[in-house]
Amino acid sequence: MKMLKKKFKNYNPKIKEECGVFGISNCEDAAALTALGLHALQHRGQEGCGIVSYDGKKYYSEKRFGLVGDNFNNEKVLKNLEGNFAIGHNRYSTTGGTTLRNIQPFFADTHAGGIGVSHNGNLTNALTIRGKLVKDGAIFYSTSDTEVIIQLIAKSKRNTTIEKITDAVFQIQGGYALVMLAQNKLIGVRDPLGIRPLVIGKLKNSYVLASETCALDIIGARFLREVENGEIVIIENDNMESIKPFPAKKSRPCVFEYIYFSRPDSILNGKTSYEFRKKFGEQLAIEDDIKADLVVPVPDSGNAAALGYSQKTKINFDLGLIRNHYVGRTFIEPAQKIRSLGVKLKLNANKSSIKNKKIILIDDSLVRGTTSHKIVKMLYDAGAKEIHVRIASPEIKFPDFYGVDMPTKEELLAANKSVNEICDYIGAKSLKFLSIDGLYKAMGFEKRNNAFPQLTDHYFTGDYPVEIIDELGENKITQLSLLSTGSNS
Ligand code: AMP
Repeated sequence: MKMLKKKFKNYNPKIKEECGVFGISNCEDAAALTALGLHALQHRGQEGCGIVSYDGKKYYSEKRFGLVGDNFNNEKVLKNLEGNFAIGHNRYSTTGGTTLRNIQPFFADTHAGGIGVSHNGNLTNALTIRGKLVKDGAIFYSTSDTEVIIQLIAKSKRNTTIEKITDAVFQIQGGYALVMLAQNKLIGVRDPLGIRPLVIGKLKNSYVLASETCALDIIGARFLREVENGEIVIIENDNMESIKPFPAKKSRPCVFEYIYFSRPDSILNGKTSYEFRKKFGEQLAIEDDIKADLVVPVPDSGNAAALGYSQKTKINFDLGLIRNHYVGRTFIEPAQKIRSLGVKLKLNANKSSIKNKKIILIDDSLVRGTTSHKIVKMLYDAGAKEIHVRIASPEIKFPDFYGVDMPTKEELLAANKSVNEICDYIGAKSLKFLSIDGLYKAMGFEKRNNAFPQLTDHYFTGDYPVEIIDELGENKITQLSLLSTGSNS
């Protein structure tokens, strides 16, 4: 613990990416279908979006701040994106570097020809590599770690594009899913542990790559399979090849995709994340013995777990909170004054169903405790008799460095307070978290395999499967100087 604290004390995850990626080849409506795919992946990132297309001769690129529906639901923009090949990207809003330059896909002309890259994840040695490349004379355009990948591909002395890409991915570490376009080749790469997700679909004669299966459903593509951990798939016309250049490892996908991040209708490891979340709720009920009048979800993040809990306990499920669907992150985030109103903008108590009721309030996770704190007060103010908070995942005690937006250890409530102290802080009558073994059980495992954990679960355990090189490396640079804000035109 002490070691970890020291290791991460000064880490500045400024170039963190938490995003959605998509790609399609060999298809007449490549850009329009990419826009639809990105729209289905909107929950993975709302800060900006972009598409790069290729028509056999030239590449085309459009990038915008904001939502896909506001920017790419437009004939004129889509007309600019010619060709039968396209990749796209949704960028998640992060603390620093809100600039058009950071919006993906990135594109570069290299010795091997043009290459476009969309990246979901976070590299744990990006700053270290960047420092070395800069010393060597490289010029960087953005503050994103994705640019490091492009520079490594461009600098590789290997012969073919695929060899250059392989050369580059051997040098990077972290959690990543990449979708690339190199002339008429669509390429997908998943990190050696499969921390970040990537799936393959087929639409007539076209292959599709996407962060989640919900992006296949929206365009009517058939889900074929996940890209495996450490696999590189190379799609050319209607042919797909696969190489596995890394030493074989067991996969260890990120548990937070199951808990919170992926859309409930997306399939992860054979089941929808909705099914997994219901199971988390059922398991939470198995580990609990409280009697109450109602099970109330925090919408929408707690919906599936609350249903599972209610079905298991036979305690009635009811909507005690009503969500305003027209409040997006973009509205809440930038203005501090607005942010302080916080949860109230998004949710309101449904007085008629909660008045004088003993309530089990369920959410998927507790991070800083802001949501629970405000909702508990809101429900008491609206007349609830008792509120017992239940969280369908274990206590988050450790930050993330593989692409999920998590605050520092100092801000993580469970890293600094006991369960009783958290309960006091959020003002609930009682509080319980799902146990770690319960989480694994709900996912179909007997229990956590401590020698070879089945999931990337450092949030709860501090067990980081990929070293955070940037905090240790002698070439690290923690300050990036790109401060300008790009225009959206
Ligand atoms: P907090 O209010 O800080 O305790 O955060 C918990 C709430 O944020 C829950 O309702 C979660 O569904 C949601 N949440 C959890 N992880 C994330 C994340 N990485 N990004 C955005 N929201 C999240």
